[in-house]
Formats: sequence, C-alpha cells, structure tokens
Amino acid sequence: MTPVHREQLYIGGAWVPPDSRARIGVENPYTEEVFGHVPAGTAEDVDLAVSAARAALPVWAGLPSAERGAALGRLHRALTARADEIARTVGLELGTPLKIAKAVQAGLPLTVLAGYAELAARPWTEESIGNSLVVHEPVGVVGAITPWNYPLHQVIAKVGAALAAGNTVVLKPSEMTPLVAFLLADAAAEADLPPGAFNLVSGTGPVVGAAIAGHRAIDMVSFTGSTATGRAISHAAADRIARVSLELGGKSANVILEDADLVKAVKVGVGNAFLNSGQTCTAWTRMLVHRSHYDEAVELAAKTAAGYTLGDPFDAATRLGPLASAGQKERVRGFIERATARLVAGGLDAPVPAAGHFVAPTVFADVDPDSELAQEEIFGPVLSIIGFDSDDEAVAIANNSRYGLAGAVWGSDERALSVARRLRTGAVDVNGGAFNPFAPFGGYKQSGIGRELGAYGLAEFQQVKAIQQ
Ligand code: NAD
Repeated sequence: MTPVHREQLYIGGAWVPPDSRARIGVENPYTEEVFGHVPAGTAEDVDLAVSAARAALPVWAGLPSAERGAALGRLHRALTARADEIARTVGLELGTPLKIAKAVQAGLPLTVLAGYAELAARPWTEESIGNSLVVHEPVGVVGAITPWNYPLHQVIAKVGAALAAGNTVVLKPSEMTPLVAFLLADAAAEADLPPGAFNLVSGTGPVVGAAIAGHRAIDMVSFTGSTATGRAISHAAADRIARVSLELGGKSANVILEDADLVKAVKVGVGNAFLNSGQTCTAWTRMLVHRSHYDEAVELAAKTAAGYTLGDPFDAATRLGPLASAGQKERVRGFIERATARLVAGGLDAPVPAAGHFVAPTVFADVDPDSELAQEEIFGPVLSIIGFDSDDEAVAIANNSRYGLAGAVWGSDERALSVARRLRTGAVDVNGGAFNPFAPFGGYKQSGIGRELGAYGLAEFQQVKAIQQ
C-alpha cells in the first residue's frame, strides 16, 4: 500500500506548513496498518485560517452569483476528476467496500456539489413585504466540523451549501478519516477559488474542533457527529451567540405494517441497517413488524444477515467491510454482550475475518423497546426487531426515542403515508422511496437542529435582512 503523507494545511489559497510538527496517523481498518498521516493542527492554525476566511469574505460574497456558481462548477469538475481516488481513499481510511464507496462516498457528494453549483448561480432571492425589501445575505465565516462515516459527503453538505450562499469556510474533518478532505483542498486549489474562501485545518476535536467552536471571529458552526459533541459545541457557541447547526445521531424505525410487501420490506430494511457496516446515522436500526408476520420477518432478517459476505473492501465480493476503528468495534461488541434479547443472527461468536475490525451482522428479536439495544445508537451492524399489534402501537414505539432523524414505513400506500405523517422524524421513506439528495435532511429532537442539502440546506447559511423604504 502506498503511504499517503500530507504535511501541510490549506489556508488562504495555499498549502502552508502547520504550526506544530505533530502528526495524526491514519489507519486502514482492514489491514490495521497506519498508512498515512496529516498535520495535527493547533489553535494558531485555526486563527490563521479564520483570518484568511474573514479577508476573503467581502471578495467571495461580493461576486456576482453567476461567477460564484461558475467557481463551484470548476470545483465540481476538479473533484469529479478525482472520483476514483476519492472512492479508493475512503475504502482505505474507512473500509467501505469499493463498489459502495464509488456510489455513495464519491458519487453522492459529487451530485450534491453539482446541485450547489447550480443554486449558487441563481441571484439571491429578494421579496417585498409591504414597505420592506427582504434580502438574503451570507452569515459570514463558517466553521465546519465533520465525522468519519461519510467523510466527503458530510463535508460537501456543509462546504457546498456555505460557499453557495456566499460564506467562507474553515473545515476540520474527522481525525480518523481526514485524507479525503485533502483531495477536496487539492480540487479547490485547482478550481482557483478566491484565496481564503475555503480553508482546511486537520486536527483533533479537543484542539482544532474546540478552537473553531469557541472562535470569536467565526459567525456560525456547522457540525455533524455525536450528540455529546454537538452539545459541547452548542455550549461553546452560546457564549458569543453564534449560530449553530447540528446533524447528530439517530435510532430510526422501519415500520412494516400488516399489509406490507414483507419480503421486500425486510430485505431492504436489513440492507439499510447494515449499510457502511451500520455506521450510518440514518440507519433503520429498529425493525417494527406487525405480529401477523413477525416470525416470518425474524426468520427472513436472520437469513439475509447471515448471507452477507465480510472481507477486504477492495474485493468485489465483499458486502460488509470492517468497522472504522478498534474502539468502534469494542463499543459495538459491548452492546451485543449486554443485550438480553433473543439473538437470531451473528453475535460475538460468529465467524469474522481474522484481521480487521469486524463485527458479524447481528440480529436480535423480541427486543424491549425501552432497552439499551432499542434506545442507544450502536453505530455497527446490529438490528433490533420489535413486534406490534396496531398502527397506533407502531407509531408509539417508533416515536419512543430521543432521536428523530429518519425512518421507513411499508404498507398500502395511503395507510403507510398516514403512518409516515405521524412519525416525529426528519425523513421517512414510504415503500422504498429513494433517498433524495436535494430534499431537506436533518433531525427532530436530539438528532439535531437545522437542515442540510438542497435549497433548505443553503438557507441555513443565510441571514435575512428587512429594508424599510
Ligand atoms: P464525534 O462527535 O466524536 O466527532 C465528530 C467531529 O467532532 C470530529 O471531527 C471530531 O474531531 C470533532 N470533535 C470531537 N470533540 C470535539 C470537541 N470537544 N469540540 C469540537 N469538535 C469536536 O462523532 P464521530 O465519532 O466522528 O461520528 C459518529 C457520530 O456522528 C454518531 O453518533 C453518528 O450518529 C453521528 N453522525 C450524525 C450524522 C447526521 O447527519 N445526523 C452523520 C454522521 C454521523
């Protein structure tokens, strides 16, 4: 494996040496080898990046929309030219199987960025309300802090929208999967964005992340990650009343009604729960099944899970890669060990490849809706099945969560839609409705504040001003 060593930070439109010589190693979770490193940035690096972003703000915000759109179009082209490298990089640093990495880890952010280039090219909307002219403006300098599970998509959802709305950005990617963000910086350099419009400072959460969250000259912090970190960032930003948008965890329900296409609902449901080895915030980790089909669903889910091939992310036969880190593997194994429900597939003793941070795809039946298994975000390939007797009971169980990010309902169209309307969650897929990268994405309750993607995502990064005349 060729090592990937990045020695510099991207600040003010140039690659610059970091303040400290400290580095962060990047591990391949399949081989368990450290194959790269990036600079461990400091608060001084963040200061420099924020100054560059502040200086660039009038330039970038002052461009005519068509020029901003054209610049993001160039960024999209430069990133598209790196699509294979992006998929390979995420395969190496996260362990996503290559086929899925190409479609989801590279393809999805490219689609989202193309959409933002198009939205950026449209003049900012203005409307008249009585004697007021209402105009939209950028919020200012945005700090973006992202996690490791969809390392480019989560970056583009913020950076694409913030830049499209005329803001400038300082990005801190996850220290576990930082390399793909360096490819974005390479693309930004090639796309010739105004110096300082986009800045990259790699580093740890407690150092670089905390410096961004608490920085007096950062107007807004956009964060994706765990609820605990989201809370810490909100506290830091509250001191200066800075705007915060949060995309946090989930514990989504897949509701399979009495009149559902059972086989499809279970198979798609298992696939969704185990996508990216279950390290997906929108994963439908609770499968709620009407009692009339319960035993059949349990049997089918167990069989589907047992059929998954685990192995080398770069082998075309692999459906499930390793978990992202040894720590994540131990955390997931802890949930399985403590579980008191009926194990019907996988578990701690199921065979997994000898090397790599693997956990076998695991299914529990007869899960107590109030138990740890049904309430906590596990972030691994663990599915909980729960029975119900009526639509009302299904809705009550689905909503019995401190999270509310995604979900699904299967059944006759009208009935499924009516249940979907009753779920307290940011998105619901009815009868396999496809993920829409331009629809608003975000959470109810402790799943977050604000929306990403498409025009709603762009609006998060705008101020609204009323001018009376
Ligand atoms: P995390 O909260 O530990 O880290 C996310 C980012 O925050 C990283 O870049 C990290 O370095 C940084 N960070 C950590 N401590 C910080 C601090 N004190 N101040 C500022 N920044 C800090 O989360 P993770 O382990 O990377 O990701 C997994 C979690 O993210 C899961 O809970 C998952 O559900 C959630 N997630 C949510 C979404 C969503 O869109 N809702 C998407 C992906 C992941």
